Amino acid sequence: MNIHEYQGKAIYAKYGLPVSKGYAAFTPQEAIEAAAKLGGPLWVVKSQIHAGGRGKGKFKEATAGEKGGVRLAFKAEDVGIFAEQMLGATLVTAQTGPAGRVVKRLYIEDGSDIEKELYLSALVDRETGGISFIASPDGGMDIEKVAHDTPERVHTIATDPTTGATDADGKKVAAALGLTGHLEAECVDVVKKLYEMFTKEDMSLLEINPLIVTKEDHLKLLDAKISFDTNAGYRHPEWAELRDLGEEDEKEIEASKYDLAYIALDGDIGCMVNGAGLAMATMDIIKLFGSEPANFLDVGGGASKEKVTAAFKIITADPKVKGILVNIFGGIMKCDVIAEGVIAAVKEVGLQVPLVVRLEGTNVELGKKIINESGLNVISADDLEDAARKIVKAVKG
Ligand code: GDP
Ligand code: MG
Repeated sequence: MNIHEYQGKAIYAKYGLPVSKGYAAFTPQEAIEAAAKLGGPLWVVKSQIHAGGRGKGKFKEATAGEKGGVRLAFKAEDVGIFAEQMLGATLVTAQTGPAGRVVKRLYIEDGSDIEKELYLSALVDRETGGISFIASPDGGMDIEKVAHDTPERVHTIATDPTTGATDADGKKVAAALGLTGHLEAECVDVVKKLYEMFTKEDMSLLEINPLIVTKEDHLKLLDAKISFDTNAGYRHPEWAELRDLGEEDEKEIEASKYDLAYIALDGDIGCMVNGAGLAMATMDIIKLFGSEPANFLDVGGGASKEKVTAAFKIITADPKVKGILVNIFGGIMKCDVIAEGVIAAVKEVGLQVPLVVRLEGTNVELGKKIINESGLNVISADDLEDAARKIVKAVKG
């Protein structure tokens, strides 16, 4: 789960990390009030969308001006003008895709004088089984490009989960960023606080691009990208308020209501599978036969008829879907339950595309019987390969 920059900075502040003062604004009037409270002489008007590259992004509407999704205002009046231009406009950045995102919130921040922009992030490192920091002296730009062109300028500093981030780790990060003297000490402090925050708040990723050295020669966290590990959601009731459903895929929101593991993808074959491993294998075999899956969907081990119906509706509501493959291995899950769910859903929403069903396992004969007697135009398949072959053929002709 991702959150907005201004929400992330509020968490930074809670852990005593250095950030600028700022206020979220949902209307131009709120932006003007925020500017007055901050007092200037420099303000930053920042689009709040769940995507990076805002500064270099472009608005689709000519009325939104030429200057991108992060703008410096040297006069208080400009804050109101920029807010008027940016709110409701569609911002396209390297990370949004061509459709862009409508800006519905702004963050009005006290502007900083920048001496140098650095890069710092933290993530759960699968290789070491701990949290690692990634540091580069080349901040403010596309870190993927830095890593590609000058890999020697991107450093990974692993930490030990039994000790947490130590002074020595902080010093390694400082060295990677080229910080010495009192800035090294500030960096050690930042690294230790980030580590504490990362673990206590159950983050999976945290990126500060840029971390800056101000003209006054202090460190400040100027940007905040944060993802939470939703597996820990049960101990964070406060996440409900931080979630911005407007930034999430509608199909994924609907799926989460039914506790379905669903990820929207770009292909045209909708998949309904039980078990994450079988779902992955199903996507692989669709690709092997020359098509692309429209989604990952694991209905889970013991799905009810309601859950299966909801899943089927989510798949059919996707206009990209040109065919559906239901692939169920009934272990805990019973094939007749799946069959009933599919039929209930088809009766409710209709079936405009070919549907291939492969059932195997508990109550398979009953499941097949229910489908055959339903009078629906369903293509049945015997095994995974047969199923993939049939759905690809049905879609491609
Ligand atoms: P992103 O483009 O989505 O990554 O948004 P950022 O928050 O990183 O802002 C983009 C760029 O705007 C930064 O790299 C800075 O160069 C600039 N910027 C952001 N805040 C300030 C500020 O307070 N003062 C100045 N001078 N520049 C800023
Ligand atoms: Mg940034």
